[in-house]
This record gives sequence, structure tokens and C-alpha cells, in this order.
Amino acid sequence: MIKNLKIPIVRFYILILSIITIGVIWLFINSIITINKMDDEIIKIETIHAKNFAQNIQQYIKKLSPSNLVNSIKKSKNLQNNITNALTLFSDKQYKYVYLIYLSRNKTFRYLCDGSKQINQRGELNQKFEPESKKIWKKLLKYKKPAYTIQKNISSLWITYLYPIMYKDKVSAILVFDISISEYKNLIQILKPVYSLLILITILLIFILLFSFFQTFAFLRQKKKTNIDALTHLFNRSYLNEIKKNINLSQCAIAMADIDHFKKINDNFGHDIGDTVLETIAKRLVSATRTYDIIIRYGGEEFLIFFKKQTDIKTLREVSNRILKTISDQPIRTENGDLQVTLSMGINPMPSMDKTLHNAIINADKMLYVAKTNGRNKVVILNENTYCNDSLILENIDTDIKENRLKAYFQPILDIKTGKIVKYEALARITDKNDNLYLPSQFLPIIKDTSIYETLTKDMFMQAFRAIKKHNIHASVNINVSDLSNNSIFTMIKELIQKNIQFANMLTIELFADIQIREIEEFKTKINILKYMKVKIAIDDFTDDKPNSNHLINIKPDILKIDGSIIKKLLTDENARTILKEIINTCESYNIESIAEFVESREIFDLLKKYNIKMAQGFYIGKPLKIDSRKFLPKILFFK
Ligand code: GH3
Ligand code: MG
Ligand code: MG
Repeated sequence: MIKNLKIPIVRFYILILSIITIGVIWLFINSIITINKMDDEIIKIETIHAKNFAQNIQQYIKKLSPSNLVNSIKKSKNLQNNITNALTLFSDKQYKYVYLIYLSRNKTFRYLCDGSKQINQRGELNQKFEPESKKIWKKLLKYKKPAYTIQKNISSLWITYLYPIMYKDKVSAILVFDISISEYKNLIQILKPVYSLLILITILLIFILLFSFFQTFAFLRQKKKTNIDALTHLFNRSYLNEIKKNINLSQCAIAMADIDHFKKINDNFGHDIGDTVLETIAKRLVSATRTYDIIIRYGGEEFLIFFKKQTDIKTLREVSNRILKTISDQPIRTENGDLQVTLSMGINPMPSMDKTLHNAIINADKMLYVAKTNGRNKVVILNENTYCNDSLILENIDTDIKENRLKAYFQPILDIKTGKIVKYEALARITDKNDNLYLPSQFLPIIKDTSIYETLTKDMFMQAFRAIKKHNIHASVNINVSDLSNNSIFTMIKELIQKNIQFANMLTIELFADIQIREIEEFKTKINILKYMKVKIAIDDFTDDKPNSNHLINIKPDILKIDGSIIKKLLTDENARTILKEIINTCESYNIESIAEFVESREIFDLLKKYNIKMAQGFYIGKPLKIDSRKFLPKILFFK
């Protein structure tokens, strides 16, 4: 299933190993070639010498016996002596045996003359001669040309050189030199240690090579284990960490995909069926993408996809819709029958705009969130217009905050039973130089992921604490789930609360789930730190079908703020009332307080009173106002 294990260090390792392998082979072949070449060179020189000698001897013999050599020698002892003496002249340390042979009538080789160095080893006239290798002799007789054989062992080199003595185009006799090449001995003496060293080095290199191959193999296996998810066989997040430095953000689009209502599959059919679904979806994702796209199992049922070299919106839309279709068109076969599963996807087509991979992924995730909240089984691609004009606006917002034009407006929250205002939600408003008022939805998306966002969040907390202290009220401040995973923002919030620790119990943090919660344990720890400081935790815009909703309930929040979209529809939509009842049940069973948002009319307020909802917030109760406004009333009692 894995398309390619592209780990930079492995490529480097393989390259080094290949270079060593080629080096060893080259060294070995080259040394063998060099030694053989030296042998050839020596043999070549020696045979040229021998040929010269043989030609001289032939001339001399022909002078002494112009015709019928064999018979002449047999008849004349004198001639035999003369020729033998001539041969003796050539025999020395190197030319150990120099003799003439003829082929008798019965096809046996016999001595004619022998001028070998050792007199007692000389052959007598007509004495039978038994050649070691007949092949070369036959060759000479056939082609009537000089021939030689070589005998070689580790310390010596022998050449037996045969030269035909020709009379009337016939081979009358064969002149033989047995040449012992002493240079070879010397050469071998010099080369022996070099040769041994070479063999030693080769053996050593082969060992290193084998060891390295073994190491690489073990390393690759280990890498595969740590970088590949055991269930889906896709890459995992540790692989992402490994390659993130090498990802070229300008060359890819980033998609975040998440299985819809996967929890229900687990709940209804069990974890094993859930696993089967995960495996099948992973397989389908692989088959619907190209080999060089990278798919990572990013979280439980979330997949991060890098579409390489594909950043134009039209193609991205086609590709992603095709992926969604491959998932939804065919039901997934499981032991419990066929299951219809869908996928939602958020795409960041221009990750390079976000500077860092982390931010680029967050943006893809935000789009996934939009896809989820817009009904699932959908692809949402980040709009390129969001990127444009941003830098201009960013500067303005920065100045506005620096020049104190960011103001927290406070909207009252009423306890329905007691009819008392029990707290205020701090809402950010910017009034620019020209007195234009901006709402969070107009500036937050632009400043998110910039340092201005952190400054703004800090400012909002400080203004909330100031209001708490000055007016002795309870106040709530909004943050996102993604702010908690940003350590710099979390630390800033934590330190601010610590500074105002005696008022921390009058502060509520309203948490908006802008992204999927992945590091669940880390998320829980951070929430617990806030709770430990006595801060109340509220879940903002809660509906029970939102992604993360179960994780959010699991942190045991103090308050659920029921999403305005449900409250608005209460009078007309039976379904909205059912959802509301379910949420109220959840609140009761988990002992969580509830706040209804968007309470905009008396009718809705009256209806809410019938349900067991603790608090209400909305224009009917009170609009967000500046804390110094004359209309700002810390406690209102006439709602009973
Ligand atoms: P949504 O459509 O909003 O994404 O809803 P959801 O239910 O898919 O999302 P949610 O995040 O609420 O639930 C995800 C579930 O996936 C929770 C978790 O138990 C389950 N899960 C995570 N990893 C695995 C796994 O490896 N195998 C199985 N079977 N389930 C897993
Ligand atoms: Mg899901
Ligand atoms: Mg999920």
C-alpha cells in the first residue's frame, strides 16, 4: 500500500553504499587486469627475443647444412657438434633448455641436437622426446609458424617457445627454447605483499559492505515500522515529522480528510468493523491518488494528503470529488454487511501562503471543519481571495490594537430562574480611525495565525480582568481549540490568569472548536490546568453533531453554550426542539450548566423557561455594550 518510503537519510545511505560497492568492484577488477597485463607484456617481450634468437640460429644452421638437415646431422657428427655448440651459446640462466627436435617417420618426436645448459640433462641424437602438451606441436606443424605455451604458477613463469626450421616450405626440425623468466619471480616477490594487501582490503571492504547492507536493511525495517501505520499501512505522523523539512509548500496542495460519523460506526458495529472501514478507506484513498501524492494517517480517522504539483483549483476540485466518490459510491463490505461511508475534505490549495507547514495544515483543517458543518460528504477549498488584501488590512488592525481601538464589549447572560444577570461575555470590537465598527468575523480570520492574534487575545483577557475587578462581575472570554495547541498562546493565557489568580474563579473561558482535536491527552491536560486555577470552561456554539463533540463533553466542561442555530429555530422546527432536549439531557447527566445563545424574542425566552435551561443570552436580554456605556447595567432584575 505504501507508495514510496521517501526518507532523505535512506537515499543518502543507499548512495554511499552503492559508491563503496562500485569502488570495491573497480579495485578488484583493476588489480586483476593490471597483473594480467604485466604478464602479457613480459611474454610479448620474451617471445620477440626468442624469435630473434631462433632466426639467427636458423640462418646459422642453413649455412652449415643447406639441405636435408636431419639426414646431414645423422651422418655428420661434426655438423651435430657445431650446431649443438651454437645452441649452447644461447643457453644461459634464462634459456635453460635449447634443443632441436625432428619428427621421425613413425611420427615420434626425437632429439637432433641439444645445447641445454646442464650437459647431463641433454638428449642424445634420436632419443625419443615426449612433449608435455602435444597441441602446440601439432599447431606448429599445421601452420608452420612459431608457437609457444606458458606454464605459470605463483612464483615462476615458463615459456616453451617452438620455432620451425624450414627447408623447401617443409618443417625439417623444430627449435625449442625452454625459457624461465626470472623477472617474473622478482616481480612476484615485489607484488606479493601488494597483492596480499589488496586481497585483505577487498575482504575487509566486502565485510564492511555486508555489514552496511545488513545495517541498512535493519534501519529500513525499523523506519518502516516507525513510519508506517500498522492498521492502514499508510504513513503515520512520525513520517510527516521526518519529511516535513523537505516538503516544498509551493509545489503541493494540502488536504485534510475525515470520515463522517465514524464514531457511530464504532458504537453501532464495534471497533473491529471500525478498523475494517479504516483499512478499506485507506486502500481507496491510495487507489484514487497518484503514486507521488503522499497520504498520511494523521489522526484516528483523519488523513492528510499532499497533492504534489497540483495547485490549480479546478483540478483539485475534480481530484477531491473523485476521491469522495470512490468512498461513497461503493458500500464497504464488513462482517456485519455493507456499510455506506462518506468522507469530508478540506483543502488548502496554496500552502506556501501560510509560510509554515503547521499553519498550512491548520488552514486545511479549518476547511474540513467548514465541510463538516455544511453537511459532510463535501470538499471545501480555501478561497484564494482570503489570502489577497490581507497584508494591507493586517497592518491597519495592528495599528488599531496598538492605539487601543480594540475594545471588549460585554453582553449580559441571564440566569433564567433567578432573573439575574450572572455574567457577561466579552466580545471583541475594533473601531478604526474613521469610526467604523468591525466585528470579530471581519478581522479574526485575517489575523489568525499571525502574532497580532496573540496580542488581541491577550488584550481581551486583560480587559476582561479589568472589568471583573472594577465592576465585580463574572466575565467570559472566547478562545479557540487551536489556541490551546499553540503553546505560546496557552502560556500567555496561563500567565495572565496566574497574575490575577484571586479573580480566576470569576472568569469563564469559552472554547470554540475551530479544528479537530488530535492530541487529546495534551488537550485534556491543558484544560485541567485551567480548571485547577478555578477558571470555568464553557463550550461555545455547541451542537451534538459537530466534530469533536464527544471529546468536548469528555473534558467535563462547566457550561455548554447551545448553538444559536438551534435556538433560532425553536419556535418553528420540531427537530430543533428534539436536539435541544437531547443537549439538555446530556447536560443533566454530566452535571453541566447550559446557556441558550441568540435569545432574540420574548417568545423564545418564554419557551426556554419551560425547558430546564439555566441561562440565556441574546439581544432580548441585552446587546453587547462598552463597559463605560451608561446603558451598561451590572445587574438586571426585571426578567422574572
Ligand atoms: P465527524 O463526522 O464529525 O468526523 O464525526 P466522527 O464520529 O467521525 O468524529 P469523532 O472525532 O467524534 O470520532 C472519531 C472516532 O474515531 C473516535 C475514535 O474512537 C475513533 N477511532 C480513532 N482511531 C480509531 C481506530 O484506529 N480504530 C477504530 N475502530 N476507531 C478509531
Ligand atoms: Mg470523523
Ligand atoms: Mg474526527
